[in-house]
Amino acid sequence: AARTGGRSRATRWTPTLGAAAARRDRLRADLPGAAARGELWLAFQPVVSMDEQRVTGVEALLRWRHPELGDVPPREFVPIAERAGVIGELQRWALREATAAAVALPESGGVPLQLGVNISASHVAARSLVDDVATALTTSGLAPQRLVLEITEATVQDDGEFVVTDIQALRLMGVHVALDDFGAGTSSLVHLTRLPIDVLKLDSTFVARVDRDGRSRALCQAVVTVGRALGLDVVAEGVETPAQLGALRGLGLGFAQGFLLSRPLPLAELLRVLDEGAGALWPGLVGLSPDA
Ligand code: C2E
Ligand code: MG
Ligand code: MG
Ligand code: MG
Repeated sequence: AARTGGRSRATRWTPTLGAAAARRDRLRADLPGAAARGELWLAFQPVVSMDEQRVTGVEALLRWRHPELGDVPPREFVPIAERAGVIGELQRWALREATAAAVALPESGGVPLQLGVNISASHVAARSLVDDVATALTTSGLAPQRLVLEITEATVQDDGEFVVTDIQALRLMGVHVALDDFGAGTSSLVHLTRLPIDVLKLDSTFVARVDRDGRSRALCQAVVTVGRALGLDVVAEGVETPAQLGALRGLGLGFAQGFLLSRPLPLAELLRVLDEGAGALWPGLVGLSPDA
């Protein structure tokens, strides 16, 4: 019913309302039930350790293949799902699917891979995250220590002490927490004083210019220093070139993720790549000297 509603509404619209608004309306109408209809899938992007030159984890990235509109990127549909109140449904599907996939991944260098799952601020605000994570862990049998929940500053800005309380509860279960897109927000350092987290993911905007611009380099260096001082792992996001990777390694960045190292991959492809490469040195890192 929701789908037909969306469609008829969209066709009734005049061109002046714009194609973008019509598309938003359509997506909003079609999102409920997308998981049940089998339209969602997960891509997995490897995260590599600079020191060990091995893959140490993967990040699960949600994908929606709309039957008529094709692939819709999460930056487009996640905010719509949040406003439409269906993010919980998508999030539970992603948690369940990702944890089930992770138990079947091979070890790398004798160590089980970490699994990053992105968590929407409004899912945290709805207070079901702790239960949803517990259910996914129980159902899949994944060790809590292998799960890294990626939250953003938007999560923390959603007032309420309960955010910190829920994150504490998750960490007591053994789950790790990463602050995603770090540096892209407005008051990053303030959040670090009250947030119990394990990992900082350095936003790709700094990474993009780290090899060419002194200011970006200085900010990356500062984040490495903050990470060290607080005992956090730091992951560089969006590494696309060997020059960026070399500069980040020179600054002491611990981990890297980006198209240079691997694009996000469908599970079958990830398994193939890991079969060939897990435990071995990761292509793209091999031969990279710390001061390159
Ligand atoms: P994010 O968590 O910061 O994920 C990183 C994004 O950067 C991903 O985009 C990834 O494909 C992209 N990326 C990785 N390496 C590179 C690179 O070298 N260059 C460039 N240009 N991009 C790179 P994606 O998959 O489109 O996801 C976008 C955002 O959507 C994510 O940002 C995350 O905030 C959100 N998202 C994805 N999956 C989920 C989910 O399951 N739940 C929620 N709530 N949000 C999700
Ligand atoms: Mg993320
Ligand atoms: Mg990010
Ligand atoms: Mg980002």
